[in-house]
Amino acid sequence: CMKEERGMPIGIIRNLLKTYGSKGFQTKVLKGIDLTIYKHDFIALMGPSGSGKTTLLNILSTIDQPTQGTVALDGQDLAQMSNKELSKLRRNKIGFIFQDYNLLDTMTLQDNIALPLILNGVSSQACIQKVETLASVFGLSGHLKKYPYQLSGGQKQRGAACRALITEPEILFADEPTGALDSKSGRDLLECLKMVNANGQATIFMVTHDPFCASYANDVYMLSDGIITCKLSKGAERKEFYDRIMDLQASMGGNGS
Ligand code: ADP
Ligand code: MG
Repeated sequence: CMKEERGMPIGIIRNLLKTYGSKGFQTKVLKGIDLTIYKHDFIALMGPSGSGKTTLLNILSTIDQPTQGTVALDGQDLAQMSNKELSKLRRNKIGFIFQDYNLLDTMTLQDNIALPLILNGVSSQACIQKVETLASVFGLSGHLKKYPYQLSGGQKQRGAACRALITEPEILFADEPTGALDSKSGRDLLECLKMVNANGQATIFMVTHDPFCASYANDVYMLSDGIITCKLSKGAERKEFYDRIMDLQASMGGNGS
């Protein structure tokens, strides 16, 4: 492993095991994961369907608990935190993007994006300014007064990304964020994520089975048979990185779907 100059650690996973089911019917999904996420990272966790990507993301993002091992976020051991502390951590330090947008149908895009700020008691004037700034980065300036049904899937997902980033979280979690999008909309979203990461506005941990999606990250980890089998890091070019991810995937004998 290369020694690299890195930022502060945001997420630390040590010897993580996750088993589902009860005695006699157990599935060992994660069998010993060690991973450190540093500030400013853009990580993609890749692996075939059913390999445990969502399980790992859910444990790291406080939604699920490990069977064994430790997980720390923002310097705090999650196992030592009360429910109240965990919900505060989720509200202030974590952003989520899921496959299926999760925007509220009865609110405009503006209000959907502002919602986490409103819940935190931020004044509406300050909300509007923050929303407008972020929306322009994501190409949504002309759409803020619209309701979700008036938006395309790509616009909704970029809106969901804005909502996730509006509180300036320490880390953004994305689970198959392009899974429901056509390829152009997927690319637009990934370009935006790449931009906010490069600007220093977001540390991103994304899970995906799609090599193209993964090639937008700076580091790709492969999850297979419950362990992380290897790590690839991007050079100068996304296309060249994509080719290496494809080669590795082929050598592992999977087509990724
Ligand atoms: P991925 O996101 O890589 O497709 P998941 O993390 O969703 O994989 O699932 C990994 C494995 O764990 C699968 O075999 C799945 O069926 C199983 N699994 C996931 N969640 C549960 C659960 N709540 N109870 C039992 N098994 C589960
Ligand atoms: Mg999944």
